[in-house]
Amino acid sequence: MPDRPYTVIRGGAVLDRGAPRPRAADILIAGGTIREIGPPGLDAPQEAREILAHDRLLLPGLVNAHTHSHYTLAKGVAGNWTLEMMLNAGPWVIGGRAREDLRLGATLGAAEMIRKGCTACYDMVLELPWPSSEGIGEVAAAYDEAGMRAVVAPALADGVFWDAVPGLMDAVPETLRGGLARMRASPAEATLAGARSVLHDWRFDRDRVRPALAPTIPLLCSDAFLVDVADLTREYGVFFHTHVAESKVQAVAALRRWGRTLTHHLDEAGVLGPRFGAAHAVWLDDDDIRRLADRGAAAAHNPGSNLRLGNGFARAERMATAGVAVGIGTDTSSCADQLNMFEAMRLAAFTSRAETPDYGRWLGAPEVLDMATEGSARVLGFERIGRLAPDHAADIVFVDLRDLNYVPLNDACNQVVFCENGTAVDSVMIAGRMVYDRGRFATIDYDRLVDRANARAAELAEANAGLRREMDAVADVVGAFCVGLAREPYHVHRYVGDRAGGV
Ligand SMILES: [Zn+2]
Repeated sequence: MPDRPYTVIRGGAVLDRGAPRPRAADILIAGGTIREIGPPGLDAPQEAREILAHDRLLLPGLVNAHTHSHYTLAKGVAGNWTLEMMLNAGPWVIGGRAREDLRLGATLGAAEMIRKGCTACYDMVLELPWPSSEGIGEVAAAYDEAGMRAVVAPALADGVFWDAVPGLMDAVPETLRGGLARMRASPAEATLAGARSVLHDWRFDRDRVRPALAPTIPLLCSDAFLVDVADLTREYGVFFHTHVAESKVQAVAALRRWGRTLTHHLDEAGVLGPRFGAAHAVWLDDDDIRRLADRGAAAAHNPGSNLRLGNGFARAERMATAGVAVGIGTDTSSCADQLNMFEAMRLAAFTSRAETPDYGRWLGAPEVLDMATEGSARVLGFERIGRLAPDHAADIVFVDLRDLNYVPLNDACNQVVFCENGTAVDSVMIAGRMVYDRGRFATIDYDRLVDRANARAAELAEANAGLRREMDAVADVVGAFCVGLAREPYHVHRYVGDRAGGV
């Protein structure tokens, strides 16, 4: 919390999404909430702390609708990996994480997001062998300490990747199967008990950091497990998040396993609802989209990740038009690779243009900015963030209008989405508190973070070298087998390739 109950920001220019020019305005903040936005010279209590914001454009904090903090120490490791090759590499990429590593990873992610104008995120984080209130609590503590808002959702599954893709294990030469056979999921009972303990023991202010549950990928879960997780979320009134039809392999595998699409299956299982968030939602047909909309569910659009992993193009505009609440996310450091919401917004606008020459269906800067703020807030379940307005959270990004991205200033909203890359972010306020102040972190010891992250990443790489050799040995088998699955016909097409199936 700020040291004084009132803060007034004077001299800034508030982004007005409908107008090319920002509006000169002062902002009065009480506690962590915006009390009033008014013309320069706004009345403020005498004791109010004053922040001068001349030459600063004030934006609502961006909200990252989908990321994974346990991958941040693995920044840059991925080569030409498909999603399935990334999952295959999982044991060495994210293996051996102790609880303090989970905390370190979350702090590293928080630092990058804050530095790039993001004030809240949805973090689906994996603790092995199963979630605990202590381990997930370390992640929550990292966000709490950084002063960032977050939904922290332990990643859950009762199956493993190699069993989830039909025929994959059989395709692996027997001499290489030994390592894979050892990869077993933790018992469902232990995982569910751990998830319950996370929800039961939650000790953080839910206005700032709150829990949710996240079955990783429905194909890695038994139906009973999915229903048990959904029941737990209802019992504790928390959100449910999962990756939905991210790759064509998942779409094809779901059809084979259930005889219907993944979204249809989740709907039949009673999992969809207003607290449901679908990450990616790439391989959806019109009926799937209608189901998400009818149930009041939300979707997290991650265009950077989808491009990086070759998963195709999600129909974000179609989902939004159909009534699905659409937010924007970066996904994680191993597949995006930056946690940069400015980049994610720009890519969301651009990929909508790859869909169609009909510019009436392109996502424009105002729509994309809405998705990355209020849309993502809806994915997280935070009601009063993502907008600069009275009674909303004082989560404010201060952008330097003298940065080249804004010279000359012709259309502020267009320039935030199409020109900004994070370099003009000067300060970031969350809940009325400056967490990043004129280029310096106020809540994170940055030098210490750099040293610890470098040291720990090196240690983990050494400790996981054996696993890396094992997984590298089967990487091309997994890759080729899954590309084969992606060649199978499917009733929607989400690649831009000019050959059938795009492969
Ligand atoms: Zn993800």
